[in-house]
Amino acid sequence: MAVYLCHEQPDLYEHEATIVDTRPGAVLLSRSAFHPGGGGQVSDVGWIEGTGGPVEVIAVEVEQGDDGERWWHVLAEGAAVPEGDVVVRVDADHRHRVASLHTMSHVLNALVFDEFSGSLVTGAQINGDGTGRMDFDLSAIDNDRLRALADPVNNVIAQGLEVRSVYVSATEADATPGLVRSLSVAPPPTDDGRLRLIDIAGLDRQACGGTHLSNTGQAPPFEITKIENKGKHNRRIRFRSAR
Ligand SMILES: [Zn+2]
Repeated sequence: MAVYLCHEQPDLYEHEATIVDTRPGAVLLSRSAFHPGGGGQVSDVGWIEGTGGPVEVIAVEVEQGDDGERWWHVLAEGAAVPEGDVVVRVDADHRHRVASLHTMSHVLNALVFDEFSGSLVTGAQINGDGTGRMDFDLSAIDNDRLRALADPVNNVIAQGLEVRSVYVSATEADATPGLVRSLSVAPPPTDDGRLRLIDIAGLDRQACGGTHLSNTGQAPPFEITKIENKGKHNRRIRFRSAR
């Protein structure tokens, strides 16, 4: 697995490409700035424009091929399947919504990790409509204490902390406890075995292959909408961007 184009060039929202394979309702591209999703994060959406005009891409389906992943760009129902040379456009608003909530899920995870001594994430989901949830292995914690975490998350937004992606060797990652947590969007190791880390200055550092903001100050206000008990040990925190 090579480094994703969307990781190499996070601000690339439009580029040229060639259709290399098609099937009913989906195409493979020679290159794509789309994020394929994974680990609970939805994929990018957007458009592919060929000679027949733009068609909507509603999802990416990842297929494991012999030579690596094949990213099928799934087209809106009934869309004519484009061929040849095309222009690829990523929906920037959708990317920003998902990246915002995803970045805030790192912040929430770090706060829970600090306040409840190393609680582990057992599941996460980031949707395209500006809502998401995280499940934590937490027992005997008052739900009001979890609800109160919205304030410190919003403090982190107000502080405008830098969010960087860095690559470290798998050996170095193995030697650092807490770096690879279960919430990670399956972090793709690079060809030379390095791991991508997301570092939120002074707050959190963990392996992740998702999309993120470059500064926490770019996020809209964060709201916790509901706390649910899931089984004996798990708490589900539902949240959304306030606009
Ligand atoms: Zn992430």
